[in-house]
Amino acid sequence: MSKIIYLDHGATTAVDERVLNKMIPYFNISYGNPSSMYGIGRQNKMVIERARQEVAKVINCNPKEIYFTSCGSESDNLALKGIMYANKEKGKHIITSKVEHPAIMNTCATLKRQGFDITYLNVNKEGFVKLDELRNAIRNDTVLISIMFANNEIGTIQNIMEISKIAKENNIIFHTDAVQAVGNIKIDVQKLGVDSLSMSAHKFYGPKGVGALYVKNDINIDRIQDGGHQEKGMRSGTENVAGIVGLAEALKIAYKELDENNKKILENRNYFIEEIKENFKETTINGNLEHRLPGNINVTFKGKDSLEILLKLDEYGICASSGSACSTGEDKPSYVLTAIGLSPEEAFSTIRFSLGKENIKEEIDYTISILSKI
Ligand code: PLP
Repeated sequence: MSKIIYLDHGATTAVDERVLNKMIPYFNISYGNPSSMYGIGRQNKMVIERARQEVAKVINCNPKEIYFTSCGSESDNLALKGIMYANKEKGKHIITSKVEHPAIMNTCATLKRQGFDITYLNVNKEGFVKLDELRNAIRNDTVLISIMFANNEIGTIQNIMEISKIAKENNIIFHTDAVQAVGNIKIDVQKLGVDSLSMSAHKFYGPKGVGALYVKNDINIDRIQDGGHQEKGMRSGTENVAGIVGLAEALKIAYKELDENNKKILENRNYFIEEIKENFKETTINGNLEHRLPGNINVTFKGKDSLEILLKLDEYGICASSGSACSTGEDKPSYVLTAIGLSPEEAFSTIRFSLGKENIKEEIDYTISILSKI
């Protein structure tokens, strides 16, 4: 096999051809600035509003509750900083978990330096936030709970409904980093009862460099970037029209084809897991098998060095990762894996494969054969 076998959809995805075709005219034909008063500008303003409606329809909110951003990290920054700055009089306490993506972890670190107080909840060995610990962590000055929807390394899907219920009972705002979840599992913000939710187009076959943030209309939030009036003054900067069009189109396609794609991805994932178990005795699959992102396989090959395996896989054209792409190259063990109880040695022996809609069974067979060889 000479073509690349891409098993790293948790890191990013290829732009769907249909999405790409929809985006292209906005680079060089309909390139007007949406703030300009003439035709090609005004037209692009309308294009953005249509995209906003499409996104809102998919996640079941009002279009006015959607803000376009440059990525998932920016959406998380805007949510956490924006909400904490706007609600200072209520308190300075945030509750989050020990397994959040760096977009949340490092935003919390910055907020801590600015005088906010952060509680990091433990997770159990499958990666679930302990709800009792969450209840006990709540204080009079708790303003925000930020718990990710689905983990980027081990794929565990949190009990978002229950967390949202706890937040509501205590009059606390609830943000969820849903960057890994959007496009892969059904999301209805009304049903879930979340106040704020972030997404990123490149995780669901849209372009890189564009994200969105849902913020419920009654939530107080400040902007964190100064400039023009774009996005109702909440996110200044000339809009990435092509990117926004791409995000909306990718989201629409992802949900139209969700059931069909997930059926196939799940079949492939279960097959992959069975093959791993059968061919490699000293392995463990981390996380929960039921409440898990469909394409995620996180496996520890005991006594092996994950970096060495990944480099060898790369020689055979197979793309996978250890931990998240954002932390590749760090010499510390993954804090997500140590939080679920893995030793540093086990964490350094762990690989994440994340399957996507285009993967086929033959690619899994080939990967297993190469894994055996190396
Ligand atoms: N949150 C989670 C859970 C992620 O997995 C990622 C990216 O991997 C991000 C946030 C950041 O998204 P982006 O790459 O669009 O900044």
